[in-house]
Amino acid sequence: MEKAGKEPEGEVFCPRCGSHRLYYFVGGRGGWIYECKDCGYHGSVVIEDSEIAVELREKWKQSLKNKEENSEGQK
Ligand SMILES: [Zn+2]
Repeated sequence: MEKAGKEPEGEVFCPRCGSHRLYYFVGGRGGWIYECKDCGYHGSVVIEDSEIAVELREKWKQSLKNKEENSEGQK
């Protein structure tokens, strides 16, 4: 039986932000749920293709930047 909190085997990436900092959050009948330490994503879907992950990462960084700019504008 695997334990939650350990790092997944092999390279997996967050589908939201492209981070590789994924950990098992909880296991169930349907498989493992992962937790992303960077964006807080919880889910069973992960990316295994590092090229896609790099693209997601760039988009994520861009969206964070946009968010910062927007919040500054609202002050
Ligand atoms: Zn993430």
